[in-house]
Amino acid sequence: MKHHDGMYIDGAWRPAAGPDVIEVVNPADEQVIAAVPAGTVEDVDAAVRAARRALPGWAATPPAERAARLAALRDVLVARKDEIAGTVTAELGSPLKFSEAVHVGAPIAVAGSYAELAATHAFEEKVGNSTVYQEPVGVVAAITPWNYPLHQIVAKAAPALAAGCTIVLKPAEDTPLTARLFAEAVHEAGVPAGVFNLVTGAGPVAGQALAEHPEVDMVSFTGSTAVGRRIGAVAGAAVKRVALELGGKSANVILPTADLAKAVNVGVANVMSNSGQTCSAWTRMLVHTSRYDEAVELAAAAAGKYGDRIGPVVNAKQRERVRGYIEKGVAEGARLVAGGPEAPRERGYYVSPTVFADVTPEMTVAQEEIFGPVLTILRYEDEEDALRIANGTVYGLAGAVWAGDEAEAVAFARRMETGQVDINGGRFNPLAPFGGYKQSGVGRELGAHGLSEYLQTKSLQF
Ligand code: NAP
Ligand code: MG
Repeated sequence: MKHHDGMYIDGAWRPAAGPDVIEVVNPADEQVIAAVPAGTVEDVDAAVRAARRALPGWAATPPAERAARLAALRDVLVARKDEIAGTVTAELGSPLKFSEAVHVGAPIAVAGSYAELAATHAFEEKVGNSTVYQEPVGVVAAITPWNYPLHQIVAKAAPALAAGCTIVLKPAEDTPLTARLFAEAVHEAGVPAGVFNLVTGAGPVAGQALAEHPEVDMVSFTGSTAVGRRIGAVAGAAVKRVALELGGKSANVILPTADLAKAVNVGVANVMSNSGQTCSAWTRMLVHTSRYDEAVELAAAAAGKYGDRIGPVVNAKQRERVRGYIEKGVAEGARLVAGGPEAPRERGYYVSPTVFADVTPEMTVAQEEIFGPVLTILRYEDEEDALRIANGTVYGLAGAVWAGDEAEAVAFARRMETGQVDINGGRFNPLAPFGGYKQSGVGRELGAHGLSEYLQTKSLQF
């Protein structure tokens, strides 16, 4: 077990103000693998002051220089990819191959995309007799969750750096080791002191102090809707910019003309990957009544094949929460066709890949974000019925539509109240804006839209 005693503030690893620590647990075997400092209000204040001091210099740096630092950062992430993947696996529990391909692969792509955007973005434009400048918002507080520990950090830090903002990051307490590696990478990439700072600690202590700090100009948060609401209220009261990337309960709509086996198999894989801990997961599969039984059979078989290939969920509390939802599904009358609430192993926070059939739209398992490997399958009578069910939650983060004809799928997707839809299994695009309609959030991450979150405009008239 490794004791880390510093936090990355003003370009160096500095001892924390207080003595408290957070233990990091490997969810696959429940062993404590490391401890990091639990940051306090003093640590947050030191980090925010460093970010404030560094702001004028970084904001005035030519975009080409910021692009060069981002390209260097991407190169360090590439050079250290095995170490990062191993660390994500140790603290999150995801299978190593998935950590390599997704937990490290996606952030490398995103860091690279912002190296390019910083170099090519038009930070100034002529509008009639005005010149409009896009300037950095200022000091950014980034508060991130554990489910994609590096991706969620890079999706905030890279565009903020590209924009000329300075940053204080408070990562999730379950996955601080990946965040520490990211801070090392920023340092190695030659980003000037104070531009990026890391404070590890508990959400209600360090996270809250950071969101409330008067010298923070913007809060960018990813996590639960409950905490997001509080952050939004704090930011609103202080008139700070805020970006919220919250929960989801996305629909996978399989229209009658679709390739059913493909739609079901990809849909099951989408929900089970990362042990169901993906905010954009398609956890509600909607199938026409004429093909419902066939779809249920295919989904149960696909889930049954997972066996040992699925990792644990992140901690004991999440496992109990997910098992509680499975019990609730049974109690409300849904039919278990794969998995169930029993722990599949003695050690580790594992949950069996679980599939519910005969789920109706108002059931708890069809409405609330479970954040575990649990798929619900709902039946619809016609397209209008499917649309009502797809749009019938408080969330609107993502979704999928499958049809024999692309135009038919697109027409349906355009009527969905959601921020991102994959058509017939469309691939992840690191440049496509990602974010929520309704209670799934405010703002967009990734690509040019993600960059504009960290910019504000100034017009000069001539
Ligand atoms: P969470 O509590 O919302 O955590 C997200 C981040 O906010 C963490 O860094 C957390 O710190 C911090 N935080 C917590 N309370 C705070 C406060 N009062 N002020 C400022 N920051 C605060 O989410 P969670 O507890 O990790 O997971 C709970 C549920 O959230 C999950 O079951 C899932 O439904 C949802 N979730 C959604 C996403 C998503 O991507 N949309 C990601 C993760 C979780 P700590 O780590 O110290 O708590
Ligand atoms: Mg929490």
